[in-house]
Parts: sequence; structure tokens; C-alpha cells
Amino acid sequence: MGDLPEKFFIPEVVDVKQRKTDIGPPHYSNFLPPVIKKNYGNWKTHEILSPGLMVHIANSGDKIWTVRIASPRLLSTTTLREFADIADKYCDGYFRFTTRNNVEFLVSDENKVQPLIDELKAKKFMIGGIGPRISNVIHTQGWVHCHGAATDASGLVKCIMDEFAEYFTTKELPNKVRISLACCTNMCGAVHCSDIGLVGIHRKIPRIDHDTFKNVCELPSTIAACPTAAITPDPAKKSVKINADRCMYCGNCFSVCPALPIADPVYDGVAIVVGGKVGNLRTHPSFSKLVVPYLPNNPPRWPEVTKTIKKILDAYIAGAKKHERVGEWIERIGWEKFFEVTGLPFTFQNIDDWTYAFKTFRTTAQIKWVKK
Ligand code: SF4
Ligand code: SF4
Repeated sequence: MGDLPEKFFIPEVVDVKQRKTDIGPPHYSNFLPPVIKKNYGNWKTHEILSPGLMVHIANSGDKIWTVRIASPRLLSTTTLREFADIADKYCDGYFRFTTRNNVEFLVSDENKVQPLIDELKAKKFMIGGIGPRISNVIHTQGWVHCHGAATDASGLVKCIMDEFAEYFTTKELPNKVRISLACCTNMCGAVHCSDIGLVGIHRKIPRIDHDTFKNVCELPSTIAACPTAAITPDPAKKSVKINADRCMYCGNCFSVCPALPIADPVYDGVAIVVGGKVGNLRTHPSFSKLVVPYLPNNPPRWPEVTKTIKKILDAYIAGAKKHERVGEWIERIGWEKFFEVTGLPFTFQNIDDWTYAFKTFRTTAQIKWVKK
């Protein structure tokens, strides 16, 4: 705060004294329900009571119930106010968003659990997503907002959640399956560490609008924005040139220079990666690997994408042992087998050609053969 006078702050909005700086969110501990605060770091166990309900039990015997619902991810203030009103009514005002944008209502009084569930059902919120299921599908901004999107986020994820809703509400899977979507390779979503990840991809180099370039773009920052040094000056046109062989269609240049649009309604589409996870239970956290290099954008229902996810999910359900995550299942049966059981074609784009990718290649003659 330095020596700034008090009048520079709005004390009724921000508790100035508890802030160490004038930026960043307030400390999370200010928002913990009292029972969690009281038993912080002292929890004994938890139990999943139904697909959308679990209870955590502290060593002290205190309990807190969690009711989870799916969220539409892009939320209106009306919906947020509705969540807040429900939380005021049943949870002393406490609710939270998980990292995958599930909404969790935290109830300290057991008598309020069923009335809360009844109200959420009456309001047609989808309850579930806890345990070996698909939880809320996390996504990025998509066509609704981001300039770089190669596919839509909320539209496509809505189709996926419609298609697989029963794996959120009732049906069980061998283990949890985290699905995510990033609408370009900048990957604001958690695609690299999800069981099934969708990535929007461009497949054409940016178009150069030379006339606009000299009016709205800076040469140094545009050239510096390209991670592969594909952009060089074009002094004759007071603009730039792009070396198509070096371009990896990332769209970074468009972020700094609007005269280099990359989005293309015909060639943009969706790639699918699988087998990533964050958890370190049994096996280490893993990155997902590319299995489908391209599927077309086919709004409003993206049938090619949902059908492909279903193929992967069906093969996983049929072949995985209990508790195996998608990546663990694939590592056990082998990637050759994965392509066989899912029926997905293996193409040259599936071969990683990144400079250090050889570290991940199989470099021995050992092949894993698994019986059908
Ligand atoms: Fe924008 Fe790419 Fe992030 Fe999507 S993933 S929100 S297109 S930067
Ligand atoms: Fe460079 Fe990416 Fe622009 Fe291609 S799309 S020119 S790789 S910044």
C-alpha cells in the first residue's frame, strides 16, 4: 500500500489491510466454509454417496457434504446469482467451482442436503460427475470471444455433454474420464493433461493483408511473435512475408497483428489427443498424445467429433480394468492395439516430429502383443 492515502481505496469493497499488494485475488482461506477452516489439513476420509453427492469426514468427526452439478461454463450473471441464492439458502453462502468448472455446493448441515438436491433437480441442473464418471468438460473461449479460435468451444462441448450426459449423471466408467477442449494450439484448456482432449487446429498459413499491415501492425513485434521464425520483412510492400514451410499454424502472429488473419471456415477443424492425466496415483502424470489429426468443424452438432469420442470411450469401457485411466489402459494394451480396437486410422501425422520427440519413441525391438 505504501504511503498512498486511504482515499485511493474503497474500503467497503476491498479489505485493504489484508491485502499485501493492490493486485491479485484475495487469499483463498477467506472463502473456506467454517467447517473446512476448522479442520484444515485434518481430514480422515471421504465417501461417494451418489454420482453427485459426497461427504468428507474430519478426524474431529465433523462432516461436510458436497453436491456437484455441471455448469454451462460460460455463465451469465443471472445464473451466477441463481447459484449464489441457492448457496445462501442451503450452504451459508458457500459454493465453489472445481478446476473443470463443476459447481459444488458445500453443505455443513445434513438436513439441508436433500432439499438442496430437490431444488437443483427442480431447476433442471444436472447433478453428478463425482467418482468414475465424466465430469464437467472444461473448455476455452471459442468463437464467442477469442480471435484465434480454430473451432468453437462452448458449442462443441455442449454437443459432447449432451451425447455423454448419462456418464455424468448415472453410468460408471472404469475410472474418471476428464475431457477438455482448447480452441487453438495455444491451449488455454487442460487438453495436454486430459484423458480425452480436443484441440482446434488451423491448417492454412495466415493471409497477409498488406494494405492494412502498414497501418495497424508493428514489424518487430510481428516478427518476434513467430516461434518458428517464419515471418520476414517484405520492404517492397512495407509488410511481411511468411515462409509456409516453417509455419506451424499457431496463430501467434495474428494475436499481435490483425492484418494476418488465420481462421478459415473450411480448413480449420479439431484434433483429438488422449491419455493425459494430472494425478500421480499408480502412474506418473502424463501428457496426452495425438490420435486423430483432423476432423472437420461441422456445427452445430459436430457429429464426426462426438462419434470419434464415442469410439474411444466404448473401447475404453470394453477393455480397461477397473481403476485404469485411459492412458494407463493404452499403455497396458499398447498403442498398436489402441488403434486396432478403436478403429481409428494411424497416419503419418500421428508420428511426432518434434526435435526431442525421439526420447518418447520406442527404441528397442520389443513389441507388446496383446491377445484380442
Ligand atoms: Fe484463444 Fe487459443 Fe485460448 Fe482458444 S485456446 S481461447 S483460441 S488462445
Ligand atoms: Fe509464425 Fe505461427 Fe504466424 Fe505461422 S501462424 S507465421 S508459425 S506465428
